[in-house]
Amino acid sequence: METNIDNLAEAIRGLTDAIRELDAEGMSVDELAEGIPALTVLMDRAEAARLGMVGEFDRRGGADVTAHTSTTSWLKDRCDISGSTAREKVRVARALRLMPLTEAAFGDGRLGYSHVRELTRCHSAHPDVFGDHEETLVDVAGPLSVRDLRRALDHWRQTLDGPGVLDELEEQHGRRRLWLSEAFEGMIRMDGDIDPDTAEPIRVALDAICDRDARASTDDHRTQSQKRADALSEICRQWLDGADTPQIGGERPHLDVLVDVDVLSGWTAGAGETTGGRVVHPEVARRLACDASVSRIVLAGDSEPLDVGRRTRVVPAGMRRALVARDRGCRFPGCDRPPRWCDAHHIIHWIRNGPTSLYNLVLLCRRHHRIVHEGRWQVLRDQGDITFIYPNGIEHTNSDRLISM
Ligand SMILES: [Zn+2]
Ligand SMILES: [Zn+2]
Repeated sequence: METNIDNLAEAIRGLTDAIRELDAEGMSVDELAEGIPALTVLMDRAEAARLGMVGEFDRRGGADVTAHTSTTSWLKDRCDISGSTAREKVRVARALRLMPLTEAAFGDGRLGYSHVRELTRCHSAHPDVFGDHEETLVDVAGPLSVRDLRRALDHWRQTLDGPGVLDELEEQHGRRRLWLSEAFEGMIRMDGDIDPDTAEPIRVALDAICDRDARASTDDHRTQSQKRADALSEICRQWLDGADTPQIGGERPHLDVLVDVDVLSGWTAGAGETTGGRVVHPEVARRLACDASVSRIVLAGDSEPLDVGRRTRVVPAGMRRALVARDRGCRFPGCDRPPRWCDAHHIIHWIRNGPTSLYNLVLLCRRHHRIVHEGRWQVLRDQGDITFIYPNGIEHTNSDRLISM
């Protein structure tokens, strides 16, 4: 006799065979445009079935059998998903057991997972009255985008119960968290959940910088997520550079890099190191040193500091003002980022005896400063002309906007 699980295994085999035969490269754009939503519907229907089973497993205390503390920990363990995802799945599965019309619409493909998740939040907030409104809510939800649905449901909840919404907002706010941790291959992983109120200024600021970038540069091939990562770093950097940044231990917080003079000048191989222990490539150290505060530390043989010199700015404030007046923004061809976003780059690095003079300095935005150093562009100045030479020999020349030196 065939069991449920045999049927499921056979269906999965048939589907995975069919999916394996799909050849995205061999499909026309029209076929892709039809195939992607079709697979999404399939995934949603599979999710409906899975959550139905999770709900039943949970009701019968299935996790006890394997000595897991909860359905969430069982799901996390057996399906190899993150704790927050498992928690959400179990929450939705439990709510769905009490939402028959929503469950039916999910099961027959009228509602996708994201819509269902929003509806379960409403159910959790108002379990007593949700049933009276469920039919209408399911009908309304189908055609709406997730964002519009969220807005519509927020209004629905506000009219029902102000204090309840406030309680949930408080609870949501309490769940905010953000982690920065070491990931593979030297990358840093940023991860977290942020409640809408905390997220709003972050989103507005990131969008503003991405929009400004789009207007400032005609030749920007970064992906949207790369742009957001750069924007976040830029915001933090501007805060560190800002006049109002609070002092910690008598100094404004800053990025410290320790590097041997011979390494910085390129005479010997080696690397710098941040005070946090991150190893820094000498070219990165040279970029940071182009426009930074620098102090000399003399070490005894056993790395004991003998003498620590005063921190001085490489480019004094007055010279920077003059540089801003001349360049008025990033000088990289096609870039229009304002001075606030720019470093003063030494065309011949000061560590190689290049003078800190207007003639030897050029404003470059953080992105182009990085491109010039790490991308090994050569920069040449000839009177009022600055020429950027790409490693493959392509040249771009940009003339001074104001020639007064
Ligand atoms: Zn530089
Ligand atoms: Zn630039």
